[in-house]
Amino acid sequence: MNGIEELHWQLGLLQTLDVGLVVVNRDYQVQLWNSFMANHSGYSASETEGQVLWQKFPNLPHAWLQRKLDAVFMLKNQAYINWEQRPYLFCFKSHRPITGLAPFMYQNVSLIPLTSPDGEVNHVGVLIYDVTDVAMARLELQSANRRLEDLSREDRLTGLFNRGYWQECLDIEFTRYQRSHACSTLVMLDIDHFKSINDTWGHPAGDEVIRHLANLLVSLARKTDIIGRYGGEEFAILLVDTDSLNAEIYCERVRRTVESARVAVDGGEICFTVSLGIAQLENGVSSASEWVSRADQALYCSKEGGRNRFSLYRSG
Ligand code: GH3
Ligand code: MG
Ligand code: MG
Repeated sequence: MNGIEELHWQLGLLQTLDVGLVVVNRDYQVQLWNSFMANHSGYSASETEGQVLWQKFPNLPHAWLQRKLDAVFMLKNQAYINWEQRPYLFCFKSHRPITGLAPFMYQNVSLIPLTSPDGEVNHVGVLIYDVTDVAMARLELQSANRRLEDLSREDRLTGLFNRGYWQECLDIEFTRYQRSHACSTLVMLDIDHFKSINDTWGHPAGDEVIRHLANLLVSLARKTDIIGRYGGEEFAILLVDTDSLNAEIYCERVRRTVESARVAVDGGEICFTVSLGIAQLENGVSSASEWVSRADQALYCSKEGGRNRFSLYRSG
């Protein structure tokens, strides 16, 4: 086969490839633009060849791409850009039928130094792979995993953290205290006479009270506070970077807001109250579970003292 013939079928192959191929020279002018590129960009080879790449396509990341190309010219090494680093180089529509929801064509890009017979690299080949199917599958998997993660940390009734996840947060906060003596306070809260609410209004109405209280706790806390549903009608609130004095202010606000709240349910409105126990993390608390037990003891004092109140843990 002579040289021209060989070139002819090689070019033919490049045209039918389901991969984009662009060749640029040292002035970043397009020297070859295959049919994949023509089909997806809407610009034919004759409209593109001889043009500086980013002048023809102003949306290209000019500075970044030039840096990449210069490195390939200089080092004579291939470069590879994954869609996870940069979703695409050329903004093409996605035409894949099964990934019809993709907003654009995700691309992997290879930059290949093209060595001439004298050993010089005066051209770089840019290969564009359509990886939309792979990217969409990966992104969907990631979002499914995130949803699963959320579900496993979430209490279904209230949307608060469930006990298991909340406990993990508590452990982390306890460890942080041991390192840095951060100031945090734990509040345990329990609805007063909840059994009789269930008995009077029914279990679904009781659920509504729990949900209502959960929303109220969130609205009165700071974004950084960590609120969990600890048990049936028991909640645990970790007030991060808060001392017991400020925790008392929070608890009184919760107590008062709950006392004046009315929960609308089938057949009427429910009034209820809560009791709270406060324990600040301080030297002498030997473990996260001892911290919880201190707040529990304080909660017990509130119940003993007549309910609808908060108490601070006191040793001895
Ligand atoms: P106290 O003031 O001493 O806390 O009285 P209490 O009636 O609240 O006492 P206790 O904590 O023993 O009762 C809690 C009740 O909460 C018992 C249980 O039937 C009910 N309960 C637990 N989980 C749920 C739930 O998810 N929904 C509803 N509606 N009720 C629940
Ligand atoms: Mg209880
Ligand atoms: Mg109760």
